[in-house]
Amino acid sequence: MAHSIKAPLILIVVIAILFVSFFSIFISINEHEKLYREAVKQDLHGLSENLSNDLVMLLANAANDIELDTILLRLDRYENVKFAYIFDVSGRLLSSYMGPSVDPDSMQKSPNLNDYLQNYTLGMVVEKSQLIAFKQIGDERLPQGFLLIVNDLQGPLEKSKNLMLISVLPLICLVVALTIFMLYLFLQKLLSPLSQLSAFANDVSHTQNYALKPQIAGKYEIAQLSEDIEQMMDTINVQMERNKDYTKQLISQQKAMERLANFDSLTGLPNRQFFVETLRMELVRAKRNHSDVALLFFDLDGFKDVNDAFGHEVGDKLLIKIAQQVKSYLREGDIVSRLGGDEFLVLLRDNPADLTLVAIAERIVNGLHETIRIDNWLITVGASIGIARASQSNFSVSEFISNADLAMYRSKLEGKGRYTIFVESMMEDNKRKIQIAKKMDDALMHNKFALHYQPKVDHEAVIKGFEILLRWRDADLGFISPAEFIPIAEQTGKINTVTSWVLRQAFIEFPTLQSYQTEPARISINLSAIDIKNDNLFTEISQLLEDFSIPAHLIEFEVTESAYLENLTTANTFFAKLHDLGCTIALDDFGTGYSSLAYLTQINLDTLKIDKRFVDNLGVSDRSDLITIAIIDMANRLKLHLCAEGVETREQAEFLMSHGCGQLQGYLFGKPVPLSELSKNRPM
Ligand code: C2E
Ligand code: CA
Ligand code: CA
Repeated sequence: MAHSIKAPLILIVVIAILFVSFFSIFISINEHEKLYREAVKQDLHGLSENLSNDLVMLLANAANDIELDTILLRLDRYENVKFAYIFDVSGRLLSSYMGPSVDPDSMQKSPNLNDYLQNYTLGMVVEKSQLIAFKQIGDERLPQGFLLIVNDLQGPLEKSKNLMLISVLPLICLVVALTIFMLYLFLQKLLSPLSQLSAFANDVSHTQNYALKPQIAGKYEIAQLSEDIEQMMDTINVQMERNKDYTKQLISQQKAMERLANFDSLTGLPNRQFFVETLRMELVRAKRNHSDVALLFFDLDGFKDVNDAFGHEVGDKLLIKIAQQVKSYLREGDIVSRLGGDEFLVLLRDNPADLTLVAIAERIVNGLHETIRIDNWLITVGASIGIARASQSNFSVSEFISNADLAMYRSKLEGKGRYTIFVESMMEDNKRKIQIAKKMDDALMHNKFALHYQPKVDHEAVIKGFEILLRWRDADLGFISPAEFIPIAEQTGKINTVTSWVLRQAFIEFPTLQSYQTEPARISINLSAIDIKNDNLFTEISQLLEDFSIPAHLIEFEVTESAYLENLTTANTFFAKLHDLGCTIALDDFGTGYSSLAYLTQINLDTLKIDKRFVDNLGVSDRSDLITIAIIDMANRLKLHLCAEGVETREQAEFLMSHGCGQLQGYLFGKPVPLSELSKNRPM
């Protein structure tokens, strides 16, 4: 705490008072000394005049020594007279006197008048410490003698000064003390508002309450200061309130930003970025502690169907519900994140046992397989899970996630709705995938692909058209099936280039193919789901048709049921335009994906291709026979053409034809072969 201003103020004032007092005393003493000297001088002058007058007669009458001594003895009444001498005109000492308090030794034994006459003028002589009256006795013209009286000045002067001081000093001290006291009281009163202000400031800083008011009564500048402080407090208070609001806003904005940056806005789960960051830290920790963590990668089965059938709103609600459900299957500390779409990742820390992993995976698989009610719909999806451990990927984040993804993919391949634990051999498969993807560019560039043609025949086994199937033989990897490389091309974004290559090559070979036929044959080209979403494909096709002068009605596009329905709106627009050009559309693998057939009336379609699975089972199970008959019947009613694939036996062919299937395709009539092979069958 700072010292009070009172102390220095009082000190200054006291110094001033003392200075003035001492100055006054000094002046008084000086004045007193002057007056005293003057008074003593007057007295001695009077005394010496009287004595001289008295001595005139005595000296004139030649008085004896006793008479002279008696005169001088009168000086006894004057205590300050040190000594006195009477000389006759010739300078002879007639009588001398010594004051009672004078030291006899200090008196001149034989004073010499001439010395005095030389040193002093007649009259009153003031020396430093003594006063001398040197008088001529008798008339100037008839002098009788000389009188010399020496009066002490220093001693009595000191005494008188002391006396004066003794009487004045206490009074001065009293006045000074009183003044200081009064001053103290005055300052106390004057400065108390300042002390109150200081206390007020302390209060504010302790309580942090800026709504406090100073309420200090004061005068002059203090009153103004108090008022100013009150105003300042008001301003601070308003500003504080504003700041509080700003801070609140900032905090909520910051929270919102954090949520946006780290959490998925739909489900509220951590997003990919946040999850990967957390995973990175967990991996560092696990590696350091020689521990392990596990990942569960899961993807919903049939989520796209839900989106297409019920709309995105329902799809979103389903995702939210599933996120909540999955959280309830997990332990405290496990993290579940949505990677995007219908993909989720679960992080399980602290080296979970295999049994725990399996238990959690089963809980998710079983839990998500149950029917969920969204709005008024009862929806059933499922989950395919992949499980991996960090130690299997040497604690590398990307490899770890990719391992779990691989295992999940395996679950999908093996029939969905299950979990798969990652093993190293899956990496081998993956390696082959990567190899295939890498070689694909080269194969496209150097025409290592080839088109094979598989005939489609009518009930009289007359070739009506060919399905074009892509073939690839690699020097190192050998024959690679399209069932293997087409999905890889789709996953690696190369499918558009593959399709372009197929289209161009098919149109190049088109005239040759036709030259082998008696009647024009229609060629069927397979498109993948990704092709449908390619905005440029339609232009490319119409341009190629024009460039190669191909009659559009001899071109058919095959698209699988699932590819069509996963992109219903886009596919409808795309195929409507192809239709307008004159091309036809066939729905491939019909009967494998969708249980609802209502969509058949909503799509652009010319032909249904009955999937090989139904054909395989003809004559094996009644149920399969019935379904096949139903499909054929329905297609006929909808005025759709029919083509059965994978016909391998005469029985199958007869069954299909007898029930009204117009076209057949299968090894029974011909395997897919290159153009060169077809030339063998050319009409002569
Ligand atoms: P897909 O469109 O269903 O083609 C029919 C598949 O069944 C072909 O397999 C064909 O060789 C085979 N197949 C035909 N008849 C029989 C039979 O009697 N018995 C048996 N066991 N199989 C028969 P492939 O050529 O291996 O093609 C597999 C799939 O690859 C195709 O299925 C198609 O989805 C895709 N694919 C082939 N070429 C292309 C292409 O150029 N573009 C696209 N996007 N996909 C293609
Ligand atoms: Ca096909
Ligand atoms: Ca097929």
